[in-house]
Amino acid sequence: MSETILSVRNLTASIDGTPILQGVNLEIKAGEVHAIMGRNGSGKSTLSKIIAGHPDYEVTGGEIIYQGKDVVDLEPNERANSGIFLAFQYPLAIPGVSNLDFMRVAYNAKRKYQGLEEIDTFDFEDLIEEKLEVVKMKSSFLERSLNEGFSGGEKKRNEILQMALLDPTLTILDEIDSGLDIDALRIVSDGVNQLKTPEKALLVITHYQRLLDYIEPDFVHVMREGKIVTSGGKELALELESRGYDFLDDKSDDKSTVGVGV
Ligand code: ADP
Ligand code: MG
Repeated sequence: MSETILSVRNLTASIDGTPILQGVNLEIKAGEVHAIMGRNGSGKSTLSKIIAGHPDYEVTGGEIIYQGKDVVDLEPNERANSGIFLAFQYPLAIPGVSNLDFMRVAYNAKRKYQGLEEIDTFDFEDLIEEKLEVVKMKSSFLERSLNEGFSGGEKKRNEILQMALLDPTLTILDEIDSGLDIDALRIVSDGVNQLKTPEKALLVITHYQRLLDYIEPDFVHVMREGKIVTSGGKELALELESRGYDFLDDKSDDKSTVGVGV
């Protein structure tokens, strides 16, 4: 049996005293790809940010077990260094910080955390040149300020470049497909697929089946009002695509009718 990478148990969380997550349960094993779908405002981004350790949210109950350890009290950088990576729905621009420097600092922080020596600038440039291939980016992007003036597609490719570099064990992609044209979608998905291994796990948040045509999920979950209300196999995404979320209203009390109900 594969190792469990992430186990979210009864997770509740709020922001400024307003409850958002209302008891999320989710288990992801090595080698698996999970997709989370759900209407706007159902809590998908909140869940992903909380797993990554975003400081604005307060965990009010439950556990986030990553590789056997509860990470709720770990700082976001500690989680990142131990292999949790979140590609943001809206990647931030940081004027004045070059993409190259940003990535080198992140990469070296992870090496330091692992007890390894920092990599020097020249070796790092060779390494990142190699990774640029994964997302078909030109090296000129490395000299620009992080995400400043990047198109929607370039920002998302840059997130996957970070993923390629940091080699995370658990990757969470929050609407990586939003704002992508079909070519960029293919490049991003190909990149993600190249980085998949049996030891790693992937959590993909999306509204659209078309992303899941490229990044095929083993399990699909639907969130509603801060909870996972239905789970199934990849056929659940197809069903949602053709029937919309409304069809779940009829069966929200009976999860077993769709796929493997978790
Ligand atoms: P989704 O990603 O599924 O569209 P979100 O996780 O972004 O949903 O949002 C879930 C709910 O939490 C929404 O009602 C949203 O308004 C609320 N929420 C999320 N972040 C904040 C925040 N920083 N401040 C106030 N409310 C928030
Ligand atoms: Mg969102």
